[in-house]
Amino acid sequence: MEELFTDILIIGSGVAGSYAAMHAASLGAEVSLVTKTKLLSGATRWAQGGIAFPSDPNDIPSHLMDTVKAGRGLVDERVSAAILTDALTQWKHLVELGINFDALPALEGGHSKPRVLHIHGDESGLHLLTFLHSQLPPGVSTFENHFAAELCSVDGQVHGAILWKNGDPDKPVAVHAGATIIATGGIGQIYSLTTNPEESTGDGIALAYRTRAKIRDVELVQFHPTVLSNGGLISEACRGEGAILLNGIGERFMPRYDQAAELAPRDIVSSSIHSEIIATGKVFLDLRPVEDLKHKFPTVYNSILDLGFDPLKEPIPIQPAAHFLMGGVSTDEHGATSVANLFAAGEVASTGFHGANRLASNSLLEGLVMGSRTAGKAVASEPAAKRRIESSGVPGCAAGHQRAIRHIMANSASVVREEKSLTEGYNEMLGIEVSQAQSLTEAETANMRLLALMVLKGALERRESRGSHLRSDFPHTSPDAKHIEQQAGNPGAIRG
Ligand SMILES: Cc1cc2nc3c(=O)[nH]c(=O)nc-3n(C[C@H](O)[C@H](O)[C@H](O)COP(=O)(O)OP(=O)(O)OC[C@H]3O[C@@H](n4cnc5c(N)ncnc54)[C@H](O)[C@@H]3O)c2cc1C
Repeated sequence: MEELFTDILIIGSGVAGSYAAMHAASLGAEVSLVTKTKLLSGATRWAQGGIAFPSDPNDIPSHLMDTVKAGRGLVDERVSAAILTDALTQWKHLVELGINFDALPALEGGHSKPRVLHIHGDESGLHLLTFLHSQLPPGVSTFENHFAAELCSVDGQVHGAILWKNGDPDKPVAVHAGATIIATGGIGQIYSLTTNPEESTGDGIALAYRTRAKIRDVELVQFHPTVLSNGGLISEACRGEGAILLNGIGERFMPRYDQAAELAPRDIVSSSIHSEIIATGKVFLDLRPVEDLKHKFPTVYNSILDLGFDPLKEPIPIQPAAHFLMGGVSTDEHGATSVANLFAAGEVASTGFHGANRLASNSLLEGLVMGSRTAGKAVASEPAAKRRIESSGVPGCAAGHQRAIRHIMANSASVVREEKSLTEGYNEMLGIEVSQAQSLTEAETANMRLLALMVLKGALERRESRGSHLRSDFPHTSPDAKHIEQQAGNPGAIRG
């Protein structure tokens, strides 16, 4: 087997992994940055809305308050205050490096003031990531088309990973790493309608779970309220600029649900749309009030035209779709997981910043801040002792099962959930057979199945409604805000 030795292995080249790589290398570490597709991959490159930076130090308490309010009792205020304070340092660092933020901050849903910075309008993620990649120092070696198939742990300590070159199980590469950072993004692909790209199959969480890392709150999946039938997203910023929601009989309904109307937090907008779709058949977004839509939101404008609608002439049909995972691999405020020498940053991690509902544009911010913090901690940590690493087998499911997984999730663990369909979905999902993976797609499908089971199990266990998690049979929020943890090896834990 081909072997590689590195100080820091970073799995995933989105905002969190790329920024972590920049920082770890600037601290003198030798870094290997791997991605299963291209460097420019993952959700980051699709981010439209921008990055929510506190506008100045005086704005930190108000940004924190908005974050806490959206998170519905599960935001860790200590961690969040630290992230928001570091945010200004990262903003300054990026500006010094030469990034060009657009002149004026935008207002987005859930924010009490305009503080969301864009780069080239609604192509913020693409330009941010391209910029970060242009800044990668020579200490970073990049590996495209290298699929992280498994983490190697011995005696409760991670020593690196087995990668499949070009996604081929017959071309394994053993990477011996002093520390391993997972930055593999989200899990949207387990749902039939999602804004997430095809890489978002939950690999990092599955890998971490199999090393017995603690996983937290994965039932807390945020549904973006305004998504086109092909998964194309209409940014919140459009509602910030005046777009309104209409139901199937042409009535504006959001003022009936929340005093902030279209600018209410995502969970409220998504559940209101869900109710109106049930009551009136359809919901539309009317973008005609947005001034200069074509130039301010070119991506939105063009993707609507591609679907055969003209947003300057008519309201556009939309629906909620799986968008962002608040939970993930449980970490402390420096990205350390419960397993020695394993770190996690970005959407794959659960730091406590997003609680039960992420505030718009807080995730690129978290990716930057936690990318740099995690890199600092990983570089400073005692490196894993050299051990022989080998594959212990990668679970796989036939690729054809992806459709069934998505169908089950759409029917049982979507915007509104209840015991009966969650239980049926869980049992059906358990019935999907697992064997040894013969290809990348089979390994991804087994990861999707595992994540789907974890979401269903967490959703069954969370017998309350909180943030993005709505139970029609438990409509109230429990007075105790609790995390739901899952860990392999515990009694009743999922196997796979
Ligand atoms: C359409 C859309 C719009 C959004 N808009 C905004 C916004 O305006 N503002 C905001 O703050 N947030 C936004 N978000 C959310 C935000 O983009 C993501 O949460 C964030 O970019 C995640 O970054 P990440 O680095 O954690 O992961 P990602 O950017 O998803 O990157 C994951 C990386 O991991 C790699 N990878 C995955 N599995 C493996 C494996 N097994 N082996 C090797 N590599 C692997 C992928 O190839 C990729 O390189 C949006 C999300 C979407 C989908």
